[in-house]
Amino acid sequence: MEIFGTPILHTVAELRHWSRQKRNENGHTIGLVPTMGALHAGHASLIRAARASCGAVAVTIFVNPTQFGPNEDFARYPRTFDADCAMAQREGADVIFAPSVEELYPSGATTFVEVEGLSNRLDGASRPSHFRGVATIVTKLLIAAEPDRAFFGQKDAAQVAVIRRMTADLRLAAEIVVCPTVRDPDGLAMSSRNIYLSPTERAQALTLSRALRHVEVLVAQNERRAEALVAAARNAFAAEPAVRVDYIALVDWATLEPVEIAVPGSLCAMAAYVGSTRLIDNVILS
Ligand code: AMP
Repeated sequence: MEIFGTPILHTVAELRHWSRQKRNENGHTIGLVPTMGALHAGHASLIRAARASCGAVAVTIFVNPTQFGPNEDFARYPRTFDADCAMAQREGADVIFAPSVEELYPSGATTFVEVEGLSNRLDGASRPSHFRGVATIVTKLLIAAEPDRAFFGQKDAAQVAVIRRMTADLRLAAEIVVCPTVRDPDGLAMSSRNIYLSPTERAQALTLSRALRHVEVLVAQNERRAEALVAAARNAFAAEPAVRVDYIALVDWATLEPVEIAVPGSLCAMAAYVGSTRLIDNVILS
């Protein structure tokens, strides 16, 4: 099947065949961009990065049930398949992989990938089994597509840490490429979940990026103590009581363990509820 001229693949066998053909017959490097659809400019930047460095690019669109908790938004997660296909093609995807749940989780499937330790930190602390679902689906996609490079956004920085650990532990061949967070002009990190926000909530959601800016300003003034930096971020939320902080943390990006003193490359990450919508954002300190 094709939509807007880009082939849509539905099975792992088709994706593997496509990838091997591109590599073996055309000599291409393979780029993989995993997404849950509802594509926006953040996803587009990943597809463009893949297009720029790989000979053949696959974009996957799959709302992965195992990374959602029982009371989370799996059922109402935005699904905009036709618009996604149009955007993926526009940005340079050669093929779209849109499997069914049954295709990736065959009936009776009981195999999961667990990245111990890391999976319980940051988002993993408040979303038990979230990173188990992420690690499992990304492993399945990497095994299916056999890419040379797989592209992920810094916006999900804890996810990046989990995936880097997992690919290193399993000695998977794909290089993990991390692309910068794409933001709306006023600073809000783009997210498929932003469409849940009412206009009032959309304004309140700016507290996250504002808090991160406070942290960056302090770092530029030579403040390095995690306690002071996290307090400054918390302070930004004090002005917006409608926004409920889930966590604010200064951590080592590889281990997600808290650090006491920020160093270049430390990750300042946060999650907060705006109404019932949980948003995340982060900066890598320079
Ligand atoms: P999702 O569809 O939300 O699972 O995201 C798919 C990929 O896009 C993940 O690697 C995300 O980190 C990445 N992504 C999501 N939002 C952004 C953004 N605002 N900027 C850059 N990458 C993003």
